[in-house]
Amino acid sequence: MANSRAINSRIANFRSYDVAARRAEVVRQTDLTDADIAVYDDGGLGIDQADRMVENVLGVIGIPVGVATNFTINGRDYLIPLATEEASVVAAASNAARIARGLGGFHVSSTAPIMQAQIQLVDVVDPAAARIRLLEARDEIMALANEQDPKLVSVGGGVKDISVRIISSPEATYVVLHLHVDVRDAMGANAVNTMAEAIADRVAEIGGGHVVLRILTNKADLRLTRARAVFDAELIGGPEVVDNLIHAARMAELDPYRAATHNKGIMNGISSVVLATGNDTRAVEAGCHSHAINADGIYSSLSHFEKNADGNIVGTLELPMPVGLVGGATKVHPAAQAAIKMLGVESADELAGIILAVGLAQNLAAVRVLASEGVQRGHMGLHARNIAASAGAEKHEIDAVVARLIADKSIRVEHAETVLAEIRTGN
Ligand code: NAD
Repeated sequence: MANSRAINSRIANFRSYDVAARRAEVVRQTDLTDADIAVYDDGGLGIDQADRMVENVLGVIGIPVGVATNFTINGRDYLIPLATEEASVVAAASNAARIARGLGGFHVSSTAPIMQAQIQLVDVVDPAAARIRLLEARDEIMALANEQDPKLVSVGGGVKDISVRIISSPEATYVVLHLHVDVRDAMGANAVNTMAEAIADRVAEIGGGHVVLRILTNKADLRLTRARAVFDAELIGGPEVVDNLIHAARMAELDPYRAATHNKGIMNGISSVVLATGNDTRAVEAGCHSHAINADGIYSSLSHFEKNADGNIVGTLELPMPVGLVGGATKVHPAAQAAIKMLGVESADELAGIILAVGLAQNLAAVRVLASEGVQRGHMGLHARNIAASAGAEKHEIDAVVARLIADKSIRVEHAETVLAEIRTGN
Protein backbone atom coordinates (compact mmCIF):
# COMPACT_ATOMS: atom_id res chain seq x y z
CA MET A 1 0.00 0.00 0.00
CA ALA A 2 1.19 3.50 -0.73
CA ASN A 3 1.83 5.53 2.39
CA SER A 4 -1.31 7.51 3.20
CA ARG A 5 0.72 10.66 3.92
CA ALA A 6 3.14 12.46 1.62
CA ILE A 7 6.70 11.94 2.80
CA ASN A 8 9.37 14.61 3.00
CA SER A 9 12.61 12.66 2.81
CA ARG A 10 14.76 15.76 3.38
CA ILE A 11 15.20 15.59 7.15
CA ALA A 12 17.77 18.03 8.52
CA ASN A 13 20.35 16.48 10.85
CA PHE A 14 18.76 13.03 10.77
CA ARG A 15 22.23 11.58 11.38
CA SER A 16 22.46 13.28 14.75
CA TYR A 17 19.13 11.86 16.00
CA ASP A 18 19.34 8.87 18.34
CA VAL A 19 17.69 5.60 17.34
CA ALA A 20 14.45 6.35 19.22
CA ALA A 21 14.13 9.76 17.57
CA ARG A 22 14.83 8.29 14.12
CA ARG A 23 12.14 5.65 14.66
CA ALA A 24 9.71 8.31 15.82
CA GLU A 25 10.36 10.37 12.69
CA VAL A 26 9.84 7.36 10.40
CA VAL A 27 6.62 6.46 12.24
CA ARG A 28 5.48 10.09 12.00
CA GLN A 29 6.05 10.22 8.24
CA THR A 30 5.01 6.74 7.07
CA ASP A 31 2.24 4.22 7.78
CA LEU A 32 4.56 2.22 10.03
CA THR A 33 3.35 2.04 13.63
CA ASP A 34 5.50 1.89 16.76
CA ALA A 35 4.71 -1.83 16.91
CA ASP A 36 5.74 -2.34 13.25
CA ILE A 37 9.09 -0.66 13.72
CA ALA A 38 9.73 -2.57 16.95
CA VAL A 39 10.34 -5.71 14.84
CA TYR A 40 13.85 -4.38 14.36
CA ASP A 41 14.48 -4.78 18.12
CA ASP A 42 15.44 -8.45 17.95
CA GLY A 43 17.02 -8.59 14.51
CA GLY A 44 13.61 -8.65 12.89
CA LEU A 45 13.20 -12.41 12.96
CA GLY A 46 12.17 -14.78 15.74
CA ILE A 47 13.93 -18.11 16.13
CA ASP A 48 10.75 -20.09 15.41
CA GLN A 49 10.22 -18.23 12.16
CA ALA A 50 13.87 -18.75 11.23
CA ASP A 51 13.48 -22.46 11.94
CA ARG A 52 10.69 -22.64 9.38
CA MET A 53 12.67 -20.82 6.70
CA VAL A 54 15.86 -22.88 6.28
CA GLU A 55 17.35 -26.13 7.54
CA ASN A 56 19.38 -26.99 10.66
CA VAL A 57 18.77 -23.57 12.22
CA LEU A 58 20.97 -22.41 15.09
CA GLY A 59 19.91 -18.76 15.23
CA VAL A 60 19.75 -15.52 13.29
CA ILE A 61 22.42 -12.92 12.49
CA GLY A 62 21.86 -9.21 13.00
CA ILE A 63 22.66 -6.70 10.25
CA PRO A 64 22.18 -2.96 10.83
CA VAL A 65 19.22 -1.37 9.04
CA GLY A 66 19.64 2.34 8.32
CA VAL A 67 17.34 4.79 6.55
CA ALA A 68 18.52 6.64 3.45
CA THR A 69 17.07 10.14 3.23
CA ASN A 70 16.73 12.82 0.51
CA PHE A 71 15.41 10.49 -2.21
CA THR A 72 12.89 11.84 -4.69
CA ILE A 73 11.95 9.20 -7.28
CA ASN A 74 9.52 9.93 -10.11
CA GLY A 75 8.43 13.01 -8.18
CA ARG A 76 7.69 11.19 -4.92
CA ASP A 77 9.76 11.17 -1.72
CA TYR A 78 10.76 7.90 -0.06
CA LEU A 79 12.48 6.93 3.18
CA ILE A 80 14.49 3.89 2.14
CA PRO A 81 15.64 1.06 4.44
CA LEU A 82 19.14 -0.28 3.75
CA ALA A 83 20.45 -3.44 5.44
CA THR A 84 24.24 -3.43 5.40
CA GLU A 85 27.18 -4.17 7.65
CA GLU A 86 29.37 -1.67 5.74
CA ALA A 87 29.94 1.82 7.16
CA SER A 88 29.33 4.84 4.86
CA VAL A 89 26.78 3.20 2.54
CA VAL A 90 23.67 4.82 4.05
CA ALA A 91 25.37 8.21 4.40
CA ALA A 92 26.77 8.11 0.86
CA ALA A 93 23.44 7.21 -0.73
CA SER A 94 21.67 9.97 1.22
CA ASN A 95 24.33 12.47 0.27
CA ALA A 96 24.13 11.69 -3.46
CA ALA A 97 20.33 11.83 -3.30
CA ARG A 98 20.67 15.35 -1.87
CA ILE A 99 22.95 16.31 -4.80
CA ALA A 100 20.29 15.07 -7.27
CA ARG A 101 17.29 16.39 -5.36
CA GLY A 102 17.41 20.02 -6.50
CA LEU A 103 17.59 18.97 -10.15
CA GLY A 104 14.53 16.71 -10.06
CA GLY A 105 15.79 13.63 -8.24
CA PHE A 106 15.67 10.21 -9.86
CA HIS A 107 13.60 9.14 -12.85
CA VAL A 108 12.98 5.40 -13.13
CA SER A 109 11.19 3.07 -15.54
CA SER A 110 10.93 -0.67 -16.16
CA THR A 111 10.12 -3.22 -18.83
CA ALA A 112 7.38 -5.74 -18.11
CA PRO A 113 8.58 -8.18 -15.40
CA ILE A 114 9.56 -10.99 -17.76
CA MET A 115 11.58 -13.85 -16.27
CA GLN A 116 12.84 -16.73 -18.38
CA ALA A 117 13.24 -20.46 -17.84
CA GLN A 118 15.45 -22.69 -20.00
CA ILE A 119 14.64 -26.23 -21.10
CA GLN A 120 17.71 -27.99 -22.48
CA LEU A 121 17.35 -30.79 -25.03
CA VAL A 122 20.37 -33.03 -25.69
CA ASP A 123 20.98 -35.62 -28.44
CA VAL A 124 18.59 -33.92 -30.86
CA VAL A 125 19.25 -35.34 -34.34
CA ASP A 126 17.90 -32.39 -36.31
CA PRO A 127 18.44 -29.24 -34.16
CA ALA A 128 17.45 -26.68 -36.81
CA ALA A 129 14.21 -28.48 -37.61
CA ALA A 130 13.56 -29.12 -33.88
CA ARG A 131 13.75 -25.40 -33.29
CA ILE A 132 11.15 -24.70 -35.95
CA ARG A 133 8.84 -27.50 -34.68
CA LEU A 134 8.97 -26.02 -31.18
CA LEU A 135 8.18 -22.53 -32.46
CA GLU A 136 5.24 -24.00 -34.44
CA ALA A 137 3.93 -25.43 -31.12
CA ARG A 138 4.18 -22.04 -29.37
CA ASP A 139 0.48 -21.78 -28.46
CA GLU A 140 0.29 -25.34 -27.12
CA ILE A 141 3.47 -24.92 -25.04
CA MET A 142 2.31 -21.59 -23.63
CA ALA A 143 -1.12 -22.96 -22.70
CA LEU A 144 0.39 -25.98 -20.95
CA ALA A 145 2.73 -23.74 -18.95
CA ASN A 146 -0.02 -21.28 -18.01
CA GLU A 147 -2.19 -24.15 -16.69
CA GLN A 148 0.40 -24.55 -13.90
CA ASP A 149 -0.23 -21.12 -12.37
CA PRO A 150 -3.84 -19.92 -12.66
CA LYS A 151 -3.22 -17.40 -9.87
CA LEU A 152 -0.43 -15.72 -11.81
CA VAL A 153 -2.57 -15.66 -14.97
CA SER A 154 -5.49 -14.18 -13.00
CA VAL A 155 -3.39 -11.18 -11.92
CA GLY A 156 -2.33 -10.48 -15.52
CA GLY A 157 0.86 -12.53 -15.65
CA GLY A 158 1.77 -15.84 -17.27
CA VAL A 159 3.73 -16.99 -20.29
CA LYS A 160 3.87 -14.30 -22.96
CA ASP A 161 6.21 -15.89 -25.51
CA ILE A 162 8.78 -18.57 -26.19
CA SER A 163 12.09 -18.54 -28.03
CA VAL A 164 14.40 -21.35 -29.08
CA ARG A 165 18.19 -21.19 -29.30
CA ILE A 166 20.73 -23.65 -30.66
CA ILE A 167 23.93 -23.73 -28.60
CA SER A 168 26.82 -25.55 -30.27
CA SER A 169 30.36 -26.59 -29.53
CA PRO A 170 32.52 -29.25 -31.28
CA GLU A 171 31.47 -31.72 -28.54
CA ALA A 172 27.75 -31.13 -28.32
CA THR A 173 24.74 -29.29 -29.69
CA TYR A 174 21.84 -28.32 -27.46
CA VAL A 175 18.40 -27.06 -28.39
CA VAL A 176 17.28 -24.70 -25.63
CA LEU A 177 13.72 -23.47 -25.30
CA HIS A 178 13.13 -20.28 -23.32
CA LEU A 179 9.80 -19.59 -21.64
CA HIS A 180 9.17 -15.85 -21.27
CA VAL A 181 6.95 -15.42 -18.24
CA ASP A 182 5.41 -12.21 -16.94
CA VAL A 183 5.72 -12.77 -13.17
CA ARG A 184 3.99 -9.54 -12.10
CA ASP A 185 4.81 -8.85 -8.41
CA ALA A 186 6.82 -12.04 -7.83
CA MET A 187 10.56 -12.53 -8.10
CA GLY A 188 9.37 -15.49 -10.10
CA ALA A 189 11.91 -18.30 -9.69
CA ASN A 190 9.50 -20.84 -8.23
CA ALA A 191 6.78 -19.80 -10.64
CA VAL A 192 8.88 -20.32 -13.78
CA ASN A 193 10.63 -23.44 -12.48
CA THR A 194 7.25 -25.11 -11.91
CA MET A 195 6.23 -24.28 -15.47
CA ALA A 196 9.54 -25.45 -16.94
CA GLU A 197 9.34 -28.81 -15.20
CA ALA A 198 5.71 -29.29 -16.20
CA ILE A 199 6.29 -28.74 -19.93
CA ALA A 200 9.70 -30.45 -20.24
CA ASP A 201 8.42 -33.86 -21.39
CA ARG A 202 6.19 -32.31 -24.06
CA VAL A 203 9.11 -30.16 -25.28
CA ALA A 204 11.21 -33.34 -25.67
CA GLU A 205 8.39 -35.07 -27.58
CA ILE A 206 8.21 -32.19 -30.03
CA GLY A 207 11.92 -31.40 -30.29
CA GLY A 208 13.36 -34.90 -29.96
CA GLY A 209 16.29 -35.99 -27.81
CA HIS A 210 15.88 -35.81 -24.05
CA VAL A 211 15.69 -33.11 -21.37
CA VAL A 212 18.49 -32.35 -18.91
CA LEU A 213 18.04 -28.85 -17.43
CA ARG A 214 14.69 -27.14 -16.85
CA ILE A 215 15.32 -24.10 -14.71
CA LEU A 216 15.14 -20.32 -14.43
CA THR A 217 17.97 -18.23 -15.85
CA ASN A 218 19.21 -15.51 -13.51
CA LYS A 219 20.30 -13.53 -16.57
CA ALA A 220 17.04 -11.61 -16.37
CA ASP A 221 17.78 -9.42 -19.36
CA LEU A 222 14.11 -9.09 -20.34
CA ARG A 223 13.29 -7.65 -16.91
CA LEU A 224 15.17 -4.37 -16.92
CA THR A 225 14.82 -1.33 -14.71
CA ARG A 226 16.44 2.02 -15.47
CA ALA A 227 17.35 5.04 -13.40
CA ARG A 228 18.49 8.51 -14.46
CA ALA A 229 19.44 11.55 -12.41
CA VAL A 230 21.20 14.88 -12.87
CA PHE A 231 23.77 15.65 -10.17
CA ASP A 232 24.53 19.29 -9.45
CA ALA A 233 28.12 20.18 -10.44
CA GLU A 234 28.52 22.73 -7.63
CA LEU A 235 27.33 20.28 -4.98
CA ILE A 236 29.59 17.61 -6.46
CA GLY A 237 32.59 19.87 -5.83
CA GLY A 238 32.95 22.04 -8.94
CA PRO A 239 34.12 21.56 -12.54
CA GLU A 240 37.44 19.90 -11.73
CA VAL A 241 35.79 17.18 -9.63
CA VAL A 242 33.18 16.75 -12.38
CA ASP A 243 35.88 16.18 -15.00
CA ASN A 244 37.79 13.78 -12.75
CA LEU A 245 34.57 11.93 -12.03
CA ILE A 246 33.95 11.47 -15.76
CA HIS A 247 37.51 10.09 -16.17
CA ALA A 248 36.97 7.71 -13.24
CA ALA A 249 33.68 6.47 -14.69
CA ARG A 250 35.18 6.09 -18.18
CA MET A 251 37.99 3.95 -16.79
CA ALA A 252 35.34 1.61 -15.35
CA GLU A 253 33.83 1.32 -18.84
CA LEU A 254 37.22 0.39 -20.34
CA ASP A 255 38.94 -1.71 -17.68
CA PRO A 256 37.52 -4.82 -15.96
CA TYR A 257 39.79 -4.29 -12.93
CA ARG A 258 38.22 -0.92 -12.29
CA ALA A 259 34.74 -2.07 -13.43
CA ALA A 260 34.59 -4.77 -10.73
CA THR A 261 35.10 -2.21 -7.96
CA HIS A 262 32.87 0.38 -9.62
CA ASN A 263 30.07 -2.20 -9.88
CA LYS A 264 30.68 -3.37 -6.32
CA GLY A 265 29.89 0.19 -5.26
CA ILE A 266 26.60 0.05 -7.17
CA MET A 267 25.79 -3.26 -5.49
CA ASN A 268 26.50 -1.72 -2.06
CA GLY A 269 23.33 0.28 -2.56
CA ILE A 270 21.34 -2.32 -4.47
CA SER A 271 22.00 -5.34 -2.25
CA SER A 272 21.23 -3.30 0.88
CA VAL A 273 17.67 -2.55 -0.25
CA VAL A 274 17.24 -6.05 -1.69
CA LEU A 275 18.25 -7.55 1.67
CA ALA A 276 16.18 -5.11 3.75
CA THR A 277 13.07 -6.09 1.77
CA GLY A 278 13.69 -9.85 2.14
CA ASN A 279 14.53 -10.34 -1.53
CA ASP A 280 17.12 -12.70 -3.01
CA THR A 281 20.47 -10.87 -3.04
CA ARG A 282 22.22 -13.63 -5.01
CA ALA A 283 19.61 -13.64 -7.77
CA VAL A 284 19.93 -9.87 -8.16
CA GLU A 285 23.73 -9.94 -8.05
CA ALA A 286 23.92 -12.78 -10.61
CA GLY A 287 21.58 -10.84 -12.89
CA CYS A 288 23.49 -7.57 -12.54
CA HIS A 289 26.98 -9.00 -13.03
CA SER A 290 25.89 -11.06 -16.05
CA HIS A 291 24.57 -7.78 -17.48
CA ALA A 292 28.00 -6.14 -17.14
CA ILE A 293 29.44 -7.89 -20.21
CA ASN A 294 29.51 -5.27 -22.96
CA ALA A 295 29.10 -5.70 -26.73
CA ASP A 296 32.83 -6.51 -27.04
CA GLY A 297 32.49 -9.35 -24.53
CA ILE A 298 34.34 -7.41 -21.81
CA TYR A 299 33.20 -7.08 -18.19
CA SER A 300 32.42 -3.37 -17.95
CA SER A 301 30.75 -0.64 -15.94
CA LEU A 302 27.03 -1.04 -15.29
CA SER A 303 26.49 2.73 -15.12
CA HIS A 304 27.29 5.72 -17.28
CA PHE A 305 28.17 9.26 -16.26
CA GLU A 306 28.18 12.11 -18.78
CA LYS A 307 28.53 15.89 -18.50
CA ASN A 308 25.42 17.64 -19.79
CA ALA A 309 25.20 21.03 -21.52
CA ASP A 310 24.95 22.79 -18.13
CA GLY A 311 28.13 21.15 -16.85
CA ASN A 312 26.21 18.90 -14.46
CA ILE A 313 26.62 15.12 -14.32
CA VAL A 314 23.94 12.90 -15.80
CA GLY A 315 24.07 9.41 -14.33
CA THR A 316 22.25 6.43 -15.83
CA LEU A 317 21.88 2.81 -14.86
CA GLU A 318 19.97 -0.05 -16.53
CA LEU A 319 19.89 -3.46 -14.86
CA PRO A 320 17.93 -6.66 -14.48
CA MET A 321 16.00 -6.32 -11.22
CA PRO A 322 14.20 -9.54 -10.27
CA VAL A 323 12.59 -8.58 -6.96
CA GLY A 324 9.14 -9.32 -5.61
CA LEU A 325 6.52 -8.36 -3.06
CA VAL A 326 4.88 -11.81 -2.95
CA GLY A 327 6.60 -15.15 -2.42
CA GLY A 328 10.02 -15.95 -1.04
CA ALA A 329 10.99 -14.35 2.28
CA THR A 330 9.31 -11.04 1.45
CA LYS A 331 5.93 -12.18 2.78
CA VAL A 332 7.10 -14.14 5.84
CA HIS A 333 9.97 -12.06 7.24
CA PRO A 334 8.60 -9.41 9.67
CA ALA A 335 11.47 -6.96 9.05
CA ALA A 336 10.98 -7.31 5.30
CA GLN A 337 7.29 -6.52 5.77
CA ALA A 338 8.19 -3.43 7.81
CA ALA A 339 10.58 -2.33 5.06
CA ILE A 340 7.90 -2.70 2.38
CA LYS A 341 5.42 -0.75 4.51
CA MET A 342 8.00 2.00 5.15
CA LEU A 343 8.51 2.33 1.39
CA GLY A 344 4.78 2.21 0.70
CA VAL A 345 5.41 0.37 -2.57
CA GLU A 346 2.50 -1.17 -4.41
CA SER A 347 4.26 -3.21 -7.09
CA ALA A 348 7.50 -5.09 -7.66
CA ASP A 349 8.09 -2.62 -10.46
CA GLU A 350 8.02 0.34 -8.06
CA LEU A 351 10.39 -1.45 -5.67
CA ALA A 352 12.77 -2.19 -8.55
CA GLY A 353 12.87 1.52 -9.45
CA ILE A 354 13.73 2.49 -5.87
CA ILE A 355 16.52 -0.09 -5.83
CA LEU A 356 18.00 1.28 -9.06
CA ALA A 357 17.87 4.84 -7.71
CA VAL A 358 19.79 3.78 -4.61
CA GLY A 359 22.34 1.92 -6.76
CA LEU A 360 22.91 4.99 -8.91
CA ALA A 361 23.16 7.29 -5.88
CA GLN A 362 25.63 4.98 -4.18
CA ASN A 363 27.71 4.80 -7.35
CA LEU A 364 27.82 8.59 -7.82
CA ALA A 365 28.80 9.07 -4.18
CA ALA A 366 31.65 6.55 -4.36
CA VAL A 367 33.07 7.82 -7.65
CA ARG A 368 32.78 11.44 -6.48
CA VAL A 369 34.85 10.70 -3.39
CA LEU A 370 37.43 8.78 -5.45
CA ALA A 371 37.66 11.68 -7.90
CA SER A 372 38.23 14.18 -5.08
CA GLU A 373 39.50 13.52 -1.57
CA GLY A 374 39.78 9.69 -1.75
CA VAL A 375 37.89 7.21 0.39
CA GLN A 376 40.07 7.01 3.44
CA ARG A 377 39.24 10.38 4.97
CA GLY A 378 35.53 9.62 5.24
CA HIS A 379 36.12 6.02 6.20
CA MET A 380 38.61 6.97 8.88
CA GLY A 381 36.03 8.76 11.02
CA LEU A 382 33.79 5.68 11.04
CA HIS A 383 36.76 3.37 11.39
CA ALA A 384 37.94 5.42 14.38
CA ARG A 385 34.52 5.00 16.02
CA ASN A 386 34.78 1.24 15.66
CA ILE A 387 38.32 1.28 17.07
CA ALA A 388 37.22 3.46 20.02
CA ALA A 389 34.38 1.03 20.74
CA SER A 390 36.76 -1.95 20.44
CA ALA A 391 39.03 -0.28 22.99
CA GLY A 392 36.10 -0.21 25.43
CA ALA A 393 34.93 3.40 25.10
CA GLU A 394 31.38 3.94 26.39
CA LYS A 395 28.86 5.86 24.28
CA HIS A 396 29.60 9.19 26.04
CA GLU A 397 33.37 8.72 25.59
CA ILE A 398 33.46 7.78 21.90
CA ASP A 399 33.50 11.30 20.41
CA ALA A 400 36.43 12.38 22.57
CA VAL A 401 38.44 9.26 21.77
CA VAL A 402 37.71 9.56 18.04
CA ALA A 403 38.80 13.20 17.99
CA ARG A 404 42.12 12.29 19.60
CA LEU A 405 42.75 9.30 17.30
CA ILE A 406 42.19 11.45 14.22
CA ALA A 407 44.26 14.36 15.59
CA ASP A 408 47.10 11.97 16.46
CA LYS A 409 46.77 10.27 13.01
CA SER A 410 46.95 6.94 14.82
CA ILE A 411 43.80 4.87 14.50
CA ARG A 412 44.86 1.74 16.32
CA VAL A 413 43.27 -0.13 19.23
CA GLU A 414 46.37 0.15 21.47
CA HIS A 415 46.44 3.89 20.99
CA ALA A 416 42.70 4.11 21.63
CA GLU A 417 43.21 2.21 24.90
CA THR A 418 45.90 4.68 25.95
CA VAL A 419 43.73 7.67 25.02
CA LEU A 420 40.75 6.18 26.85
CA ALA A 421 42.80 5.62 29.99
CA GLU A 422 44.02 9.22 29.83
CA ILE A 423 40.48 10.56 29.41
CA ARG A 424 39.24 8.46 32.32
CA THR A 425 42.00 9.60 34.64
CA GLY A 426 41.57 13.19 33.51
CA ASN A 427 45.13 13.47 32.13
P1 NAD B 1 6.43 -17.94 -4.95
O1 NAD B 1 6.23 -19.14 -5.78
O2 NAD B 1 6.43 -18.11 -3.47
O3 NAD B 1 5.35 -16.82 -5.32
C1 NAD B 1 4.94 -16.60 -6.64
C2 NAD B 1 3.51 -17.03 -6.80
O4 NAD B 1 2.64 -16.15 -6.09
C3 NAD B 1 3.06 -16.96 -8.24
O5 NAD B 1 3.43 -18.13 -8.91
C4 NAD B 1 1.57 -16.76 -8.11
O6 NAD B 1 0.91 -18.01 -8.10
C5 NAD B 1 1.37 -16.14 -6.73
N1 NAD B 1 0.92 -14.72 -6.79
C6 NAD B 1 -0.10 -14.18 -6.06
N2 NAD B 1 -0.24 -12.88 -6.33
C7 NAD B 1 0.68 -12.55 -7.23
C8 NAD B 1 1.05 -11.34 -7.90
N3 NAD B 1 0.40 -10.18 -7.69
N4 NAD B 1 2.09 -11.36 -8.76
C9 NAD B 1 2.76 -12.50 -9.00
N5 NAD B 1 2.46 -13.69 -8.41
C10 NAD B 1 1.43 -13.71 -7.53
O7 NAD B 1 7.79 -17.19 -5.26
P2 NAD B 1 8.59 -16.84 -6.60
O8 NAD B 1 8.63 -15.36 -6.71
O9 NAD B 1 8.13 -17.62 -7.77
O10 NAD B 1 10.06 -17.37 -6.21
C11 NAD B 1 10.90 -16.60 -5.39
C12 NAD B 1 11.74 -17.48 -4.51
O11 NAD B 1 12.44 -18.46 -5.29
C13 NAD B 1 12.79 -16.70 -3.79
O12 NAD B 1 12.76 -17.09 -2.44
C14 NAD B 1 14.09 -17.19 -4.43
O13 NAD B 1 15.15 -17.10 -3.51
C15 NAD B 1 13.76 -18.59 -4.79
N6 NAD B 1 14.55 -19.28 -5.82
C16 NAD B 1 15.48 -18.64 -6.59
C17 NAD B 1 16.18 -19.34 -7.58
C18 NAD B 1 17.16 -18.60 -8.44
O14 NAD B 1 17.26 -17.40 -8.35
N7 NAD B 1 17.89 -19.29 -9.32
C19 NAD B 1 15.90 -20.70 -7.79
C20 NAD B 1 14.94 -21.30 -6.99
C21 NAD B 1 14.24 -20.60 -6.01
